Amino acid sequence: MFYYEVLCYNCKKTFKVYEGSQKYKQAKENNIKVFCCEDCDHRIRMEAIKNFF
Ligand SMILES: [Zn+2]
Repeated sequence: MFYYEVLCYNCKKTFKVYEGSQKYKQAKENNIKVFCCEDCDHRIRMEAIKNFF
């Protein structure tokens, strides 16, 4: 399985994006190597919900 090693801009950890995922596509097409990892993605979403209410 193909994947890219990318960096999370939030927690500064490297993580893998696998072929078939949206992030992999972005990494390939736009040569982006910095993303938000699943954990931070989830955390940010939860924070947004908390702030909303
Ligand atoms: Zn992260």
